[in-house]
Amino acid sequence: MTVAVHPIAAPWGRFALFSYLIDAPELAIVDTGVTASAAKVPAELEKLGRRIEDVKWILLTHGHIDHVGGAVALWEATGRQAKVVISEVDAHFLSSREAHVSEALELRGEYVGTEALRARKSAEVLEAISGEMEPSLTIGDGDVLDLGGIAVRVVAVPGHTAGGVAYVLDQPDGETDVFLGDAAQGYGAASGFPGYEDPDAYRASVQRVLDLAPTRLYLGHPYRDSSGAPRSVTLHAAAAAQHLRDSLDREAEVRAAVEAYPPRPSESPYSPFEAVAEALGYTGDPTLEPAPFFTSLHGYAATHREA
Ligand SMILES: [Zn+2]
Repeated sequence: MTVAVHPIAAPWGRFALFSYLIDAPELAIVDTGVTASAAKVPAELEKLGRRIEDVKWILLTHGHIDHVGGAVALWEATGRQAKVVISEVDAHFLSSREAHVSEALELRGEYVGTEALRARKSAEVLEAISGEMEPSLTIGDGDVLDLGGIAVRVVAVPGHTAGGVAYVLDQPDGETDVFLGDAAQGYGAASGFPGYEDPDAYRASVQRVLDLAPTRLYLGHPYRDSSGAPRSVTLHAAAAAQHLRDSLDREAEVRAAVEAYPPRPSESPYSPFEAVAEALGYTGDPTLEPAPFFTSLHGYAATHREA
């Protein structure tokens, strides 16, 4: 019998984030939203005829605030018995609020101004992250979790963050459900630009998920297609493949623009990537956190510096 999956909306300001309930013999929640959205999860589960106390697994796709922020609150709500799972590489984002502040400064400080970013981020992590904890279990590529007779495979999908993972549920009928978090961004989410720290790793990860040929792909946010329209967060076979190919296409377009226009400081808010923004037709506010424009372009610049 197919294991049911239920999306749970976990909005945070202008972001539409989605958590998921995997209705396996041992209930699992994939990603947690932030403090405020996690508080609503028990009621959402009740509507589905499930109880938060019965949730045995909290599976985190990666360490970003809107995915791990509610983890401590949800874990408390399960009576502290659910296993909280994250990759070894992203685990510090669960155990330290400060890690989010330093990460933002490292990736974007030089473009958006260090002091303003530090102040803003410090306030944000206090409100949006419900607490700090060590994971119950850290995982990596190839690990398999047992949700009471239902196996979930871990596939490493670095790029968006260094420690991103996909959880792959091989359904008894041969279909494949993939919980991908933010690892394939299409033409970007709310901010209209795809965000990734490591462009080469991002590309390889999207290709790897494409090769898994998901029957259903579950995403963290509604991502835009090439026309700028948001897609659903739950994509079936052909739509899933199209989203993944769009993610590769947009990465290639960004890469080409970066190669054509090396960084050059200017008075523009997009500085030093003004020409890249123009070439790509990107007109969003590049400083709005999590500022994927600067994160991704910093990623290419860092790769070039190392080369
Ligand atoms: Zn993310």
